[in-house]
Amino acid sequence: MSQTAKAISIFGVPMDLGQSRRGVDMGPSAIRYAGLQTRLQTLGYSVRDAGNISVPIIEELQHLPNNVKMHNAAAIASVCYTTHDAVQEALERGEQVVVLGGDHSVALGSVAATLDSFERVGVLWIDAHGDFNTPDITPSGNVHGMVVTSLMGKCPPPLLIGERRLQANRIVMIATRDLDPAEKVAIRDANVQVMSMSEIDENGMAHQLRAALRLLSDVDTLHVSFDMDSLDPSVAPGVGTPVSGGLTVREAHLIMELLADDGRVRTLDLVEVNPILDERNRTAEVAVDLAASLFGQRII
Ligand code: MG
Ligand code: MG
Repeated sequence: MSQTAKAISIFGVPMDLGQSRRGVDMGPSAIRYAGLQTRLQTLGYSVRDAGNISVPIIEELQHLPNNVKMHNAAAIASVCYTTHDAVQEALERGEQVVVLGGDHSVALGSVAATLDSFERVGVLWIDAHGDFNTPDITPSGNVHGMVVTSLMGKCPPPLLIGERRLQANRIVMIATRDLDPAEKVAIRDANVQVMSMSEIDENGMAHQLRAALRLLSDVDTLHVSFDMDSLDPSVAPGVGTPVSGGLTVREAHLIMELLADDGRVRTLDLVEVNPILDERNRTAEVAVDLAASLFGQRII
């Protein structure tokens, strides 16, 4: 990350409305318990934990009409508008921002805030999944699987947050390995760059990440949206939708270390930690280690 911006704001978004397994709403607590704030302070940053954005629990929404093609969309959008405004305010103060999910739908707010705060924004979507469904093709109706398409303007309201839309040539997906059939076609049709696990296996992580950064060479700001299910479940078991064959811990650190050298990252999402499915909080601990690498921690 940039050497000039030394202040970091942390926002928790205990969102579990975008998917169907309970527990991911405790992700912010788990990551805080693993010592995020202290670790970042140790690296020389002034770190402000701004607390949690308020999220309704599912039981409060049961009396409301629900669209089975976009479960809880209105409530998710409302939380994401609040997240957008809080993150944008911090970015405009010159701070860097870490957003703790919650499920990946929180990125509707955080990525939109980065897009609205800087002129040319690129997004690294590090995830086992594409999150590229739309209400027309979704097999589940879960909004956490429609986030990239919403950010690009391909989903209907209320999933369109903020002023600016993400352009297809400014997103690179990394660690992808589990796409729904119609989603696969949609990603190909949209010309979104995918650096799948097969390519990472074949060419190595450093080569692939440098290629991703070359594809994003015209952007001035990067947003890293890190879904913990990008990691292999053997090292990050506490996620809602684990998929085998994922990143090793070292591959994930290498991504973060190369991004720290790159210096353009302003916003980081750490999402989909599910403490109920975890083993003694180890997934949240990996999340904190990765954040430290992104903010400049070095082995020596
Ligand atoms: Mg995701
Ligand atoms: Mg995922």
